[in-house]
Amino acid sequence: MPIYEYICKSCGEKFSLLQRVTATEKDTCCPKCASPDVKKVMSAFCCSNSDAGFSSPGGFSGGG
Ligand SMILES: [Zn+2]
Repeated sequence: MPIYEYICKSCGEKFSLLQRVTATEKDTCCPKCASPDVKKVMSAFCCSNSDAGFSSPGGFSGGG
């Protein structure tokens, strides 16, 4: 299942949820204030920086 990002129009909380493809904004409530007035936003998984070095063969290391 894909991860969708939402922004709550009531309190401004930004959150992401693992949802079915068929899920809509109407199926979603803000986890902070429980408002159903949320807006789906496009995830920034791709098409961001042209200088991204995501093709590292060693995998992830370190932490943050
Ligand atoms: Zn909210």
